[in-house]
Amino acid sequence: MFADITLPIPFDSFTYLVPPDMEPRVMRGCRVVVPLGKNKIYTGVVLNTHNHAPQGVEVKPVIEVLDEQPVVNEQQFAFWQWIANYYLCPLGDVMKAGLPGAMKPTDERALKESSRKRKSVKSDVSPSAWAGQLSTLNPAQQKAFDEIEASFLHQDVTLLHGVTSSGKTEIYIHLIAQYLAQGKQVLYLLPEIALTTQITERLRRFFGDRMGVYHSKFSDTQRLDIYKRQASAKPHQLILGVRSSIFLPFQNLGLVIVDEEHEQSYKQQEPAPRYHARNAAIMLAHMCGAKTLLGTATPSFEVYHLARKGRYGYVQLTQRYRDMQLPTIEVVDTKEAKRKRLMKGAFSPRLIEVMQAALLRHEQIILFQNRRGFSSFIECKTCGWVPRCPHCDVTLTLHKKTASLTCHYCGYTTRIPDRCPACSPPPSQLALGGSPAQSFVSIGAGTERIEEQIPKLFDGATTLRMDLDTATTRAQYERIISDFSQHKADILIGTQMVTKGLDFDRVSVVGVLDADAMLNLPDFRSYERAFQTLSQVAGRAGRNNTPGHVILQTRSADTDIIRHITSNDYWQMFYEQMTERQLFHYPPFYRLIYVYLRHRDDQLLDHLATDMATRLRAAFGDRVLGPDRPPVARIHSLYIRKIMLKMELTAPIDKVRQTLTAIQQQMQTMPIAKSVNIYYDVDPL
Ligand code: ADP
Ligand code: ZN
Ligand code: ZN
Repeated sequence: MFADITLPIPFDSFTYLVPPDMEPRVMRGCRVVVPLGKNKIYTGVVLNTHNHAPQGVEVKPVIEVLDEQPVVNEQQFAFWQWIANYYLCPLGDVMKAGLPGAMKPTDERALKESSRKRKSVKSDVSPSAWAGQLSTLNPAQQKAFDEIEASFLHQDVTLLHGVTSSGKTEIYIHLIAQYLAQGKQVLYLLPEIALTTQITERLRRFFGDRMGVYHSKFSDTQRLDIYKRQASAKPHQLILGVRSSIFLPFQNLGLVIVDEEHEQSYKQQEPAPRYHARNAAIMLAHMCGAKTLLGTATPSFEVYHLARKGRYGYVQLTQRYRDMQLPTIEVVDTKEAKRKRLMKGAFSPRLIEVMQAALLRHEQIILFQNRRGFSSFIECKTCGWVPRCPHCDVTLTLHKKTASLTCHYCGYTTRIPDRCPACSPPPSQLALGGSPAQSFVSIGAGTERIEEQIPKLFDGATTLRMDLDTATTRAQYERIISDFSQHKADILIGTQMVTKGLDFDRVSVVGVLDADAMLNLPDFRSYERAFQTLSQVAGRAGRNNTPGHVILQTRSADTDIIRHITSNDYWQMFYEQMTERQLFHYPPFYRLIYVYLRHRDDQLLDHLATDMATRLRAAFGDRVLGPDRPPVARIHSLYIRKIMLKMELTAPIDKVRQTLTAIQQQMQTMPIAKSVNIYYDVDPL
């Protein structure tokens, strides 16, 4: 007997010989240990068994069977296959994402030990009560709840479009309670960054031990525990999790909630499968006969477009709970302030004034700056030389506290050079000139620099900073949030980490230091994103009876997008942007597929990318654009080229996939193209 087995590497499957004594135990969905190549050993999943001996290749035997029962069910296999087909990647990549930690047998044994130990501890403390009393929905919320139910009668997917603090989460809780009462399972998806203790505790109060939490910062062992429990006879009825929780086994899924559906982090960028968890969740729900509720204050264009066309149900909540006022957004023109030399670092006089008033009232402030580090980069005062990453095509970011320069793509870190390697002033001059770092100026202001400016401007104000440098672990992140909620600091400075689903009672002012940084990105989605991010940031102000005040600093005060943001006019922004999207063949009117090629040799890559684009043009005509160098054209020492495909939505994805695969195979028959890495990004974000 032979078995086709998928391994956690970028191939669909490999065929192995099943030794006779293992035959009864090698079943579809069971994990097995197999050899690969000269000395590698992998854990794989059995796809099927058969009697067709592969021709002309050596077939190696299965070493060990790990499971008595399948750990991947038929619904999961169908879902894996859909992901592989739609996102154009091998099944092995999906398996790697879908099964927590593809472990070697030794690890597996250790794991069984440790999980046995942990279980005995856990059972002592496990809370099992269905504790909390559900709140009463107010009339607007009740109306929305009823509309969602009505919508589910004839729609699989419904969009709940509700302003921040309108009670969307409250409605989710009521819906979950209803599905659980019917014995159905619920999957509640949140973007990585929003899955905080705040929301976990809020749900835990109602659902107790019936809820399982699935976080990407969990260890492989913790994730495997939840995975096993979900496959067991006593699964959690509710899973609160991040994007990868769509890969858990479900037995009776009735409802999927995708909160903050517009969030970019639902898209997995690296490694494959480059799936969008919202779209994949809709497919998962469809395959399970479940409903999907998408919630947000600022819908993605993709979703809003489908809702307007009637493909998705649409329910709106326009009022904040208890009629709290939405914050007022005041635009401050920094171009003017700069010209008059009135700016103090990143702060305009108006922002300083508003902040000082709030501090006097003992209110809290959030400052938003979407760039971490001290500055964007440093530049030689004499010759303009800028230090760049030796492995990537980007400038290095200055981190002053550690006196280092860091690459935000690959993590490469180096000391600030003593002197400029490009123009190299003689050492004697340095000895006279004091600190060597003074040969450089820093350009742009990151969160670290903003924080440094605070004491000079606001006497005695205390600060916390939240970005990828200060909140590397989940514990640190939670710590900052909890300290700020307890008013241990007056001002929280942060990157977009501060925009997500956080409730702070005493924040009355939100300062956006540089709105232009978001508007001027070379991306057709930059306005949509800026609107979403800035609305979310603004939503942090004025919760729980403190009316909020948002100060938006920008050099482009007189533009439509800034007007749409200040008047919270989603529809107008959508309408104008959609006209352009249609004109230039962008989503949601067309489907984008990026074809990436990576290689160490830039010239060879150039040649291969041009060759591939020619082949693609022969098949797809002028739907093909490029090849181009992406904005960051080298990462981890690999050069990158991008070819863009703009496909009609009606183009059958199976056909597209076949053509792309055929072209890739043609390419890889060329000896020089053997070592090129080709991959796809479908519906890129
Ligand atoms: P959203 O998810 O739309 O941002 P939330 O559900 O978090 O809104 O509601 C905002 C705040 O108002 C929360 O503190 C929540 O507890 C409170 N709230 C909303 N609706 C109700 C309700 N019906 N009863 C009690 N509190 C509510
Ligand atoms: Zn120089
Ligand atoms: Zn780098």
